[in-house]
Amino acid sequence: MATNLDYYAVLEVSRDADGTEIKKAYRRLAMKYHPDRNPGDTEAENRFKEINEAYDVLKDDQKRAAYDRFGHAAFEGGGPGAGGFDFGGGGLGDIFEQMFGDMMGGRRGGRRAGADLQVQVSITFAEAFSGVKKQISVPTRVTCESCDGTGSADKDQPAEVCPSCHGAGKVRAQQGFFFVERPCPTCHGSGRLIRNPCKVCHGTGTVEKNRTLEVAIPAGVEDGTRIRLSGEGEAGGAGVTPGDLYVHVSVEPHPLFQRDGANIYCRVPVRMTQAALGTEIEVPVVDGSRAKVKIPAGTQTGETLRLRGKGFSVLRSSARGDMYIQVVVETPRHLTRRQRELLEEFESDGGGHDKGSPESTGFFSKVKDFLEGKL
Ligand SMILES: [Zn+2]
Ligand SMILES: [Zn+2]
Repeated sequence: MATNLDYYAVLEVSRDADGTEIKKAYRRLAMKYHPDRNPGDTEAENRFKEINEAYDVLKDDQKRAAYDRFGHAAFEGGGPGAGGFDFGGGGLGDIFEQMFGDMMGGRRGGRRAGADLQVQVSITFAEAFSGVKKQISVPTRVTCESCDGTGSADKDQPAEVCPSCHGAGKVRAQQGFFFVERPCPTCHGSGRLIRNPCKVCHGTGTVEKNRTLEVAIPAGVEDGTRIRLSGEGEAGGAGVTPGDLYVHVSVEPHPLFQRDGANIYCRVPVRMTQAALGTEIEVPVVDGSRAKVKIPAGTQTGETLRLRGKGFSVLRSSARGDMYIQVVVETPRHLTRRQRELLEEFESDGGGHDKGSPESTGFFSKVKDFLEGKL
């Protein structure tokens, strides 16, 4: 069996060909040199075996990586090239089945993405109102400078091919009737062994480093919003698309304001006499300013007054929510003697009953109906 083949040359693809190109090239060549199409042609048969040998390595991400790194040394002593191939009675149909199976298998052999990362960022209520740019720190892995990414403390003697898996990174083990592939326990799937591991990265070749990123958090963002930064996740290595970064925004509660969607609610206490006589009060607005609000004479507890357009901006729109002032009428405590006299006088004058107390009028008429058995 030939073991010095250039697998890329055999499949007539470039060294950076992706899984799809390799698969296409394999299908074209396997069809051309298949023994069923070339009966008695030993040259075609040999070509066919080479094509299969090359495809067996290049279709598998791990074997391909080992081959790229170590060449045929990766498979010496029992690798995919050593034992020859036995296609049994398989005809052209088997190739189609294999191709089809591979395609059905999804992204096997194609490009994988680096891992997605999640970070949490906490902002104030006011920042959610105005929008804010936040510096966030994202943990990421970069090449170890101490060993230039080799993982070995001796730069002239970096890694050796793992003797257990011959660089493939996985081993086959029999389980009942089946052979199962699992990551090689000796090299933990890397396909190589380092005799004298780098002290800084412990042989991994990469170190964790925090990367600082600025995230623009839009005005109007709500608690629990997730912002996706495409491609800012973990770098997956050469030829691999990086993952995405998800920023989870939590908005701190505010002591004065509550929020419902784009609307803001604020409970504002009003003295009993102000509510009865009517007045103008100043209320805080979330942008830090103040607004004057007219309290009409006879305002009741629980009535709301609307300040149009003083709420949050609505994401992806120019619309604004409103601010609602929820009036709470306060009953005075610790009356002075004079205040008591005035209120007693007010009460003996009818206390505002009958004519001007909407709650009472409704309430007492219902009590009357209830006691008379009408309700
Ligand atoms: Zn191994
Ligand atoms: Zn290192």
